[in-house]
Amino acid sequence: MASQGAARHDPAMSSTAKVVLGLPLARLLIALVIAAVAVGVLLHETRSQKTPVTHRTQHVQLTDRQQMQLGAQEYAKTLREDRADIVSSGAQYARVQRVARHIEAVAARDKPDFVWKVTLLRKKVANAYCLPGGKIVVYTGILPLTKNDAGLATVLGHEVSHATAEHVAERMEREHLTRVAAAIIAGGVAFTPGQFARITALLDLGATLPFSRAQESEADHIGLIYMARAGYDPHQAVAFWNRMLRAGKGKEPPEFLSDHPSDAHRVERVEGWLPQAERAYRPTSSS
Ligand SMILES: [Zn+2]
Repeated sequence: MASQGAARHDPAMSSTAKVVLGLPLARLLIALVIAAVAVGVLLHETRSQKTPVTHRTQHVQLTDRQQMQLGAQEYAKTLREDRADIVSSGAQYARVQRVARHIEAVAARDKPDFVWKVTLLRKKVANAYCLPGGKIVVYTGILPLTKNDAGLATVLGHEVSHATAEHVAERMEREHLTRVAAAIIAGGVAFTPGQFARITALLDLGATLPFSRAQESEADHIGLIYMARAGYDPHQAVAFWNRMLRAGKGKEPPEFLSDHPSDAHRVERVEGWLPQAERAYRPTSSS
């Protein structure tokens, strides 16, 4: 832990160092050396592409495959650490699997290579997230707030949109972590499996970088269209966000709100996208 203290007292600390304060300095140095090597060996071709639904032009370097590896690594770690809390039967499990299946089928049209999978964890925290590449984690604590399948579809639609719109890769781009990540993922510069695992710990940071407000809003928009395409009434999204807004004013606001920052205009914006969502809405008998 001494190395962390040293880093904390360095006034000239770079932004990269700040980001990795939670890790021993040695790991950062290893990663930086690898990154320096990688700059010489990797072609840094930034892809210019359009986000689904919103058609915003974005620039990312990480390929779909690299994002999947990044997400899978983080997912395996979560499942290992929270093994005792994994819910694998019962009504809540069935609901989450059922709704996720519908949302995933829609998201897969935009990201056919991603491997979608949802895990329900027994936690009192009201939250959910989707890792790059399609691995979703839902906490039981958010289910009372989602209230029904359409409410859950709102949350899952929002979360998978972060993945299909490649928000983590985009964020890493901005935080200058992409080169490090690309080098590590390329594997050619990683040494033993043990070292590889240690170095990929650095990527945990990439996978957990907070999203910007613009990305949050975009995930609301794409998620709304996804839930409608999946057969859930998009008006239920407005009801859900209103419930979330009310819960946010309580003594203990849902964790979901701190991980998914927004503002008072969130509901208004969602209402503004409703006509588009109504056109995308395909009611099904199962929802
Ligand atoms: Zn979000």
